[in-house]
This record gives sequence, structure tokens and C-alpha cells, in this order.
Amino acid sequence: MTRRRKSIAGVLALVALAAAPLFLSSFTISLLDYIGVYALVAIGLALLTGVGGIVSFGQAAFVGVGAYATAWASALAGYSPWVGLALAIVLTCGVAAVLGATTLRLQGHFLSLSTLAWGLAIGFLFGNVEGLGNFSGISSIPPIRIGSLALTESAQIYYLIWGVVAASLVALSNLLNSRAGRAIRALRGGNVLVESLGIDSFRTKLAAFVIAALLAALSGWLYAHMSRFVSPATFDAGMGIEYLMMAMVGGQGSLIGGVVGASIITFLKNSIQDYLPLISPGASGQLEVVAFSAIFILFLQRARRGIVPYIVDRLPKASEPVDESAADLPKRRQPPAGRTILSVDQVVRRFGGLTAVNLVSFEVRAAEILGLIGPNGAGKSTMFNLCTGALPMDSGAIAFAGEPIRRMPQRAIARAGVSRTFQHVKLRPRMSVIDNVLLGAHTRTKAGIAAGMLRLDRSEEASARKEAQAQLQRVGLGDVLFEEAGNLPLGKQRLVEIARALAADPVLLVLDEPAAGLRRNEKMALAELLRSLRADGLTILLVEHDMEFVMSLVDRIVVMDFGSKLCEGLPAEIRADPRVQEAYLGSLA
Ligand code: ADP
Ligand code: MG
Repeated sequence: MTRRRKSIAGVLALVALAAAPLFLSSFTISLLDYIGVYALVAIGLALLTGVGGIVSFGQAAFVGVGAYATAWASALAGYSPWVGLALAIVLTCGVAAVLGATTLRLQGHFLSLSTLAWGLAIGFLFGNVEGLGNFSGISSIPPIRIGSLALTESAQIYYLIWGVVAASLVALSNLLNSRAGRAIRALRGGNVLVESLGIDSFRTKLAAFVIAALLAALSGWLYAHMSRFVSPATFDAGMGIEYLMMAMVGGQGSLIGGVVGASIITFLKNSIQDYLPLISPGASGQLEVVAFSAIFILFLQRARRGIVPYIVDRLPKASEPVDESAADLPKRRQPPAGRTILSVDQVVRRFGGLTAVNLVSFEVRAAEILGLIGPNGAGKSTMFNLCTGALPMDSGAIAFAGEPIRRMPQRAIARAGVSRTFQHVKLRPRMSVIDNVLLGAHTRTKAGIAAGMLRLDRSEEASARKEAQAQLQRVGLGDVLFEEAGNLPLGKQRLVEIARALAADPVLLVLDEPAAGLRRNEKMALAELLRSLRADGLTILLVEHDMEFVMSLVDRIVVMDFGSKLCEGLPAEIRADPRVQEAYLGSLA
């Protein structure tokens, strides 16, 4: 949807929400209150799990920490619920930060399992602390007061709850369309790409984790003062799974989906509780679970990505235009032509018993195109992974701009000015082409999470978008800015990768088989582009199999065979070298 249409839909939704208490029964209003409270958690999960790909079963426990914090502060210690709010936020986010710092480095299932363990542990903890009322919980929690008004009625706290929900939706949707949000969106699909763009994947995950916990804390705070009572059962692991269901049913990665999912699950639970006893009195507890699971499976079958994306996919798409008058992003000064940019010295890399790169040495000089060639399996891609820090070397040394890169993490090498493409294209297929390229500009921009949420990043964002558009035009993709990247043919996806690498304003561009999958005229256009980049002072290291392409383009060639360097020289020398011809079985002649 366009921003404009989104805003209109948003305003209509707000009016409907504001008017609801005038028309609805108090029972329905209190149901809506619960939905809003649950929706906050589900929105956080839409960000964390749906967008970031981090499955957390532990959100109910975060809600619990928030709820117990304010319950303790207001009912037991006699502070105002607003102090309770501050405590709930600080405590929940603090716990999330510690927990995240210790578990977010774990991969996939281990991470999810640790959130489950955390969910179980905290539920147990609430039930066993004397000062928190054991299993009977804490009651007579005071209502929230705004000035002299106490929010005791369900129709009163309704406005506060849905105000918080609306504000969260706006803030997170702004975030997703900002620099920090794009980094979160890029998490799904692995760290290698993210780090190669200079993004700290761990910090990005941690940020998403803490934001989701913050929303859970708000939910817990509202819940405690709405129901005026907390007990451990409300925050157990079963509830953690229910929150996850809400986020999934509503829509993987859709924030509105969080609200839709919370509504559907809450309404369903309610009606199941109403009707099941009629069918089978006595056994309603277990039957509820069965009916619920059946409905859930039906959802997964029919609309796996969730309801909201299912609908949105069927609406026409439009996008915010790029502001041509935005200021340019700052550009680095390229080193003088001929200076050694990259030096590779006696580098070795083994995979088990196989030596993929064996004592290879070469240099790349500023403003040249160096071709790395060799038969399949020669070790070229491995060499690239060593140069960009994607893989550690076993021995030897590589220096970029005079700095040894051995101890530098991949993202630091990227920030220093090494940008790359991958032999097996790594894009985020569900993000638009321009958003993929904007990821490349991450290191050239600064806006943080808060700036993104509050849209204080607009001028920088406009500059970055202009840059991304310019790079896409440069590679010949100026007409597909808003397509989903995954819909492009493979050859064009390679060009998106090149535009993304260029958006980082690199010193050294490392291209692994950029012409694979391109048509003849596209290859010629690519060669022309690479020549013009060289003329601008950019240095290029390139692997390519198309010999005609390589010979006509590069300044020098390094040949690898079976992990070792076979020889090095000018294109004409390499073409004439009998060893090279032998390695390629005469295919060069
Ligand atoms: P090229 O890019 O020249 O075709 P690669 O660098 O991809 O060659 O591979 C060189 C050798 O290293 C091959 O024998 C390949 O099977 C092996 N290799 C590459 N990556 C790995 C890996 N991650 N684990 C094990 N073996 C690998
Ligand atoms: Mg390769």
C-alpha cells in the first residue's frame, strides 16, 4: 500500500476504535481490552520472529516480569503505577538484554529452546517467591491514574490500551522502513550476508529481542492494572506458545497481523469456551485444546504466511518515489592508482583433509581489475572468502590498505571498504530491489533505532534512497526498483548484488562470477560498467569463467589450479601459457 492509503486506512481504523465504546457492550469492550494487551506482545513477535526469524517461546515470561514488577511496586510497595511502568520496562528490558546476550549467539533451534527454558523457569520462579504471593499471586493492584481520573472501567483503560497499541504499530512500522529496521529484516537468511554488509548481526538481533521484550513489558503493565490481579499461571509456557500462534496466524512479519492474530485467537478461544460445553459437558478443557489445534492446522494449510500477507499480496502495490533533490551521501576518497590495496601472502586454507587454498600470494593495486581464473574447484571462491573475512585462514597473511585483516571481523573489513558479491547470490528475496541495495549503504548512514521509529532519519534516508536508485540505474535496473528481488531472473539478481556492493562506496569490489547467467549483450554492458568503475578509481577483483569476458576486461590475471597459484601475468601472457592451457584442457586456446 502507498503511505497515503496506509494513512487513510490508519485514520479510519482509529476513528472506529475511538467510537467503539459508544456502541459495544461492556463485555465486548473488555474482550477488546484483552485483545489489545495480547496484540502488543504479538506485534513484538511479528518483529522478532516474523521479520527477524528469531523464534521465541519466552514472551509470556517477559509479560510476567513486567506485570509482576508493577504489581509489586504498586500493590505491595505502595508506589504509583507509573513508577511500576518504569520498573516494568527497566526490569524486562534488562532481563532481555542479559538473556539475549547469552543466548542470541546460539543458532536456530538452540535459541528457541533456550527461550522455552527461560519461559518455564520464570513461571516457576513467580510461583515460588514468598514476597510475590507464591502461586496465589498478587491481588488488589490499584488502577492506573491519569491526573485525578482512575481507569477502573474497561471502557476507560480501553483508550489507554489501544493508544499504546496504535503508537507501537506506528513506531515499529517506521522502524521497519528505516536503516535499523532493514538490518533486522536482513537477519532472516543467515549472518554471512549481513556481516559482509558491515552490519553487526548480533547487535541487530539483540535490538529486536529487547524491542519485543519492551512491548511485552507494556503489555504486562497494562494487564496487571486492567485485571488488578496477577498470578503465575497467566505467564506460563503455554501462553508463550499462544502468543507465537497469534503472530503466525495474523501474518509472518506483518505488524497489523499481530493485532489480527490476537483478535482471532482471543475470539476463537472465547467462542470455543462458549460452545464446547454444549457438545461435551465435562471434557471441555481438553476439547478446547483439540479444537484449537485443528483450527490452527487449517490456518497453516490455507494461509501459511498468515492472513494479513495473504490479503496484502492480493492488493495492488505502489511505493514511495525517490526524492531526486536529496543531498548526496558522503563519498570516500579512492587511493591513488597503482598503490597496493590488497596483499595476499602465502595464504593457506584447509577443509578437513583438503587444502582448498595452498600457499597463494598475489597483490591487487588501486584502480586495476585483477582477474582470478582457474577450473572449478581450484579454490577461487575460498580465496575470496578469505580476502573478505567470511572465512578464517589457517596460515599466511592478508592485508587490506596496509592493515592485516586476520583478526578483523568480516564486518570491520566491509566497513574498511571491501564490498563483495557471492557466487551463489545472496539477496533478501522478499525485500524490494531498492531495499536490498539500501542494505549496502548501511555503513554510510548512521540513523539508529529511535531515529527510525520517530522518523527523524528522513533526510539521511532520502539521500540513501537516491544513492540506491543511482546505483541501480548504473547497473541497468532503474526500472525495477520496487519489485521483490526474488522475482527477478538470476542474471538480474547478480546485478542487484553489484548495485548493493557499489552502494557501500567501496575501495575494493570483489565479484565472484558476476557474468554467470547474463545474456551476451548484458555481459557486454557489465564489462562496460566495470570499465567505467575502474575509470572512477575503484579497484576490482573478479572471478569469471567466460574467457572472452575476462581477457577483454582485466589488467592482470592470477591463475589458480588445485588450490595453488599456477601463474600470474597480463592477459596475453596467460593466454599463451601452456600450463594454463593444460589446466583448462585446451579450452583457452
Ligand atoms: P572455485 O570457486 O574455484 O570453484 P572453491 O573455492 O569453491 O572453488 O572450492 C575449492 C575446494 O574447496 C573444492 O574442492 C570445494 O569442494 C572445497 N570447499 C569449498 N568450500 C568448502 C567448505 N565450506 N567445506 C568443505 N569443502 C569446501
Ligand atoms: Mg567458485
